[in-house]
Amino acid sequence: QQEHSWDAIRAQFPILQQTVHGKPLVYLDSAATAQKPQCVIDAESQFYSTINAGVHRGAHELAARSTVAFEQARERIAKFIGASWQEGEEEVVVTAGATAGLNLLATAFGYASLGRGGSAATRFALHEGDEIVVSEAEHHSVLLPMQELAARTGATLRWIPVTQDGRIDVTRAHEVITARTRIVAVTYVTNVTGSITDVAPIVQAAHQVGAVVILDACQAAPHLALDMHALDVDFAAFSAHKMYGPTGVGFLYGKRELLEALPAATFGGSMVELAWLDKPAQYMAPPARFEAGTQPIAQVVASGVAAEFLDHIGFAAIEQHEHALTERLLQLDSIPGVRILGPTENTQRIGTVAFEVEGVHPHDVGQFVDAQGVAIRVGHHCAQPIHRHFGVFASNRASVGVYNTLSDIDALVDAVSGVRAFFKA
Ligand code: PMP
Repeated sequence: QQEHSWDAIRAQFPILQQTVHGKPLVYLDSAATAQKPQCVIDAESQFYSTINAGVHRGAHELAARSTVAFEQARERIAKFIGASWQEGEEEVVVTAGATAGLNLLATAFGYASLGRGGSAATRFALHEGDEIVVSEAEHHSVLLPMQELAARTGATLRWIPVTQDGRIDVTRAHEVITARTRIVAVTYVTNVTGSITDVAPIVQAAHQVGAVVILDACQAAPHLALDMHALDVDFAAFSAHKMYGPTGVGFLYGKRELLEALPAATFGGSMVELAWLDKPAQYMAPPARFEAGTQPIAQVVASGVAAEFLDHIGFAAIEQHEHALTERLLQLDSIPGVRILGPTENTQRIGTVAFEVEGVHPHDVGQFVDAQGVAIRVGHHCAQPIHRHFGVFASNRASVGVYNTLSDIDALVDAVSGVRAFFKA
């Protein structure tokens, strides 16, 4: 295994070299969005200063170069997640982010339910009495598109509950997934408890009844090696900005044969073979069918560089480094009056830890630690049902990335240790 200098990795993130409120910045909010290494920042700016042009059209040299860079980035992302990339077999669709990818699916399934997309799309059609299964731990960007899809089609939304410590309870998958289930949409890693879902039994139960599996891979992409073919999920969505890439861009994985059968969800330029005034248009094959309009080209190119950055460090090293950070982060649990919402053992989890400080509102906790230079997230983290499970509306959340150090965690633990005395809780 390659030896890494984590200091050298951290030094690649210019934003971290600053002070806030006179204290060195300790960034522990990577689950919201990760900071960007210089190589990603440079890739975006170099694209604009050297080859900026529209892709897939135009006979000029810059258009040719930007098309190559765009498609190479798609290939890099496909390899990063264990998907196909060969021309005509692409399995990666560019989106505006995970939320956009999940909405794309809900919209496309909704169109299929209206009979759009021809006979191939009937496999995605939902009818009264059909069931869509999510989990109690879902981010609203999974829950709400699926809830809306259910409302539009007359399907029923069901959910796999979480265990007491906030893991998706896969032992319940077989009872929640029934012969009526058409879609199962779950997260790989939760953005609240940091727990890693054992995806295999869910995929097995879903496929047994012919349901399609949608994986929210947002919080997994920066922390775990992804292999879509090995996971055997049907679709997966993630955002570049959580994996050290740019904002405004994400990717939707789909098994090739499913992408080919899926109806278009947004309509416009660059996704159509033939368009007429007096008869229906003929749409292009995937991925173009799902990429109407000018794409975030520079951001896609820089996302490829972000994937390369992660691959270069290697997930074995990343997991080891972050495991050590998580071990120390879990010490939060031993501070009097602090309760971790989620597993307190350091297995099958990443370094995202939600916690509650008894008697102190999360916004007060957030401001108090911010005054010490420590950035954490407070609120419901767009996952209200799992907060309800823990009996709270909001929480504090610290989350690590490749650039964090043990002293970052110590700074947080120190700051949190002072909260209750300060607020006389
Ligand atoms: N799912 C999970 C688990 C997330 O953490 C997030 C981002 N908070 C999303 C989906 C949505 O990602 P985005 O806001 O980048 O579309």
